[in-house]
Amino acid sequence: MNDTHPAIAVAELMRLLMDVHLMEWDEAWEITRNTMAYTNHTLLPEALEMWPVSMFRRLLPRILDIIYEINARFIVEISQRWPGDNDRIARMSLIQEGREPMVRMAYLAIVGSFSVNGVAALHSKLLREGLFRDFAEMWPKKFNNKTNGVTQRRWLAACNKGLAKLITEKIGDAWITNLSELEKLKEFADDPGFHKAWRSVKLANKVKLARAVQKKTGVVVDPGTLFDVQVKRIHEYKRQFLNVLHAVYLYDRIRRDIDVVPRTIVIGGKAAPGYVMAKNVIKCINNVARVINTDPAMEDKLQLIFYPDYNVSAMEVICPAADLSEQISTAGKEASGTGNMKFMMNGAVTIGTLDGANVEIREAVGNENFFLFGLTVDEIAELRGQYNPRAIIDSDKDFSRVVQLLQSGHFSRFEADVFGPMIQSILEPSDPWMTAADFRSFVDMQTAAAEAYCDVEHWTRMSILNTAASGRFSTDRTMRDYNEDIWRVEPISLPKR
Ligand SMILES: *Cc1c(COP(=O)(O)O)cnc(C)c1O
Repeated sequence: MNDTHPAIAVAELMRLLMDVHLMEWDEAWEITRNTMAYTNHTLLPEALEMWPVSMFRRLLPRILDIIYEINARFIVEISQRWPGDNDRIARMSLIQEGREPMVRMAYLAIVGSFSVNGVAALHSKLLREGLFRDFAEMWPKKFNNKTNGVTQRRWLAACNKGLAKLITEKIGDAWITNLSELEKLKEFADDPGFHKAWRSVKLANKVKLARAVQKKTGVVVDPGTLFDVQVKRIHEYKRQFLNVLHAVYLYDRIRRDIDVVPRTIVIGGKAAPGYVMAKNVIKCINNVARVINTDPAMEDKLQLIFYPDYNVSAMEVICPAADLSEQISTAGKEASGTGNMKFMMNGAVTIGTLDGANVEIREAVGNENFFLFGLTVDEIAELRGQYNPRAIIDSDKDFSRVVQLLQSGHFSRFEADVFGPMIQSILEPSDPWMTAADFRSFVDMQTAAAEAYCDVEHWTRMSILNTAASGRFSTDRTMRDYNEDIWRVEPISLPKR
């Protein structure tokens, strides 16, 4: 079950085995529990899909009967293991009682599966210790991790032909079907000739992206600047607004004649139709971009682009051209991320939090080739309840200036208070995404990244080492892991062509 959405398949398979194939419950359950496996893809509340019992009763009465029977037998199992622990039964029941009783679909998926996995090491750990703790205690061996990957056939060979050719010239083409071959690039991480060729491929890719940006937005950007890219669905947990705060911070510094490393910030992504705050973020990016991009003082120093209609085709042009990959979600919220892997494979260096697969990316490439910032999962948990964003802002002159600028209407002249909801959300002590808490470490790490970028040889080395260490983030490795531990199908060998 690829995410919680198909969890009903547990009950439906039971129905087919019993009602169509005329099996008894025990035999049907044995087959179901040895057939189903569940992959969880997010820790956010939407993962815990809950469907009203009343709706099931109306639309799928037989399925509801089966869910109730699964639950009755499951509760017997719980009470045999933990006699008298009624809190535990209430917590783990497939039915959430209340005025409108609901079916907990994720729990149905867990109970009906022989395997439950998350999609990055940290995510799988948080499932075991947090969201699904009771279930992991009951069935520790059911829980496992399968770190996501991306395919190098699309995300390197097809989308970055220049880099693919250069890599193949150096180490052969075995990387196309065995990505760990990329490790052989380490040998050339200090080779001046290779450096030069590496940079010229990146520059050509940046020229290509600059042309796409001009065509789509009319803004001319300089391929010689640091390309700082954040593309992904717009969501508060991904903190595109933190990126905007940094853009305003740079804008404010340039206006005060403080030197900054020339930079082009590209943000792209779609908002879900009903997600008002995500649409506010897009509006906000566009407003700030208009002011920055029309200010002569920003020329050659700072441009901010909102890349419209972000999709896979756009990413195929964007990831080969990125210098810096923004992976700045609140720690503990991004299950894995895969954009982070596409950027790394194409030689971008990551600025990121210890979240999702960023943790494994940093491990693979080494901390010296990764710009780490922000609170950890544990620090965020500790801060909750005593978080005071107002105090953080007041005690930070730069941060105060940024918030002032946004509140002053500088980026929203003649418009209703379009920034109000955004600013309000980061000022809330209950802000789940703790944006203000990470502002200072983010800005400081951005400064470090910009300084590193100015040391051309150093940056090229980091870039090469990122590509070289991206081998374990191939879907080939992911599929092998799923097959060895969960699917257990026999690989076939294709006839030679
Ligand atoms: C890779 C990709 C994503 C996932 O990006 P994340 O940064 O991991 O959220 C989303 N949309 C498109 C179009 C992609 O190519």
